[in-house]
Amino acid sequence: MGELPAIAPRAEVIRSHRQQGGQVAAVLPVYAPRALLRAYGFLPVEVWGPPGVRASDGASHLQPYVCSIVRNALSFLLSGGLDSTDLVLVPHACDSLQGLGSILLDFVKPRQPVVPLYFPRSDGAGALRFLAEELRSLGTRLGEITSHAPAPDEILQFVVDEENADRLLLELHEARRQLPLTNGDFYRLVRSREYLPRESFETAARRALAMRQPDPAPAKRLLLSGVVPEPKSLMAALDERQVQVVADDTLCGRRRVCPPGRSRDPLERLAESWLGGPPDSTRGSSLAARSNYLMHQVEASGAQGVVFCLVKFCEPELFYLPTLRKALQRKGVPSVVLEVDLNDALSQQMLTRLDALLEMMP
Ligand code: SF4
Repeated sequence: MGELPAIAPRAEVIRSHRQQGGQVAAVLPVYAPRALLRAYGFLPVEVWGPPGVRASDGASHLQPYVCSIVRNALSFLLSGGLDSTDLVLVPHACDSLQGLGSILLDFVKPRQPVVPLYFPRSDGAGALRFLAEELRSLGTRLGEITSHAPAPDEILQFVVDEENADRLLLELHEARRQLPLTNGDFYRLVRSREYLPRESFETAARRALAMRQPDPAPAKRLLLSGVVPEPKSLMAALDERQVQVVADDTLCGRRRVCPPGRSRDPLERLAESWLGGPPDSTRGSSLAARSNYLMHQVEASGAQGVVFCLVKFCEPELFYLPTLRKALQRKGVPSVVLEVDLNDALSQQMLTRLDALLEMMP
């Protein structure tokens, strides 16, 4: 295996950005309007939980059936974990996130401004106009907060720059089989897009792409779907078993790597890009679209099995799961579901399920 190019840890990136006078926006899942935040001077740093925080802080404000991404994010904020940020952006990707937005705005009222971003729940005709207008309102709000008013051409340049970084991210996913990286290192690299400034991400991505080698043909090939590849030790378990994750369909991963937009209006372009991405549960894509896309990814990557890494109580993902598993079954592709709370360690039961899947793979 090759060595992953150096990637600065999240805390160091935030510290250095602030030392240079920059501001930081904590962005909840799923879609991060990076270009818009950068245009207004914020470094977007995504918050997927994080795992391993004291859950009780947030749990007292939430129903017990709210997912651990939302619960941990609230716990993290309440315990001071977001103190070094200047804004909290809560995209309303699902009911749980929408509830979190309301709790923050109406009850917790943190020091930082909390800004919601509403999402269309379909890819239909009105979705583009709705989303572009939502992004426009977000821009207006960011302007009020920062007293900064970037011109549309300036914002457009940020949108184009972020599209270029996403092209590299897509290239990493598509070149996965040729990259001599462990599963753990590959995910550390692609997930650094969640917090690195796009310039630093591009440098790391180009270095990794330069390491490409002829297909090393691993013994077993998996596609990873679901929400997030957690717990992290799952990657080590796959590495130990000489399994390569050759394709990704996770919500935090490939599923939101969107193609570039076309419009010269920056916000319409960003909306076009997001709505043109892979079918997604949080956008309310049709069951057929999700299922056809997943089957295509399995065939194109040569994956021999699928692991669904779900977060407990994630309604959007659970709704699609039976259809996706049936479609895989019809094609003779085995799959397994690992449902986790972000604070759970990798259990023996999960390892047993994983091993059973590997045995079923041809
Ligand atoms: S895991 Fe599911 S329920 Fe939780 S924030 Fe993500 S999409 Fe929403």
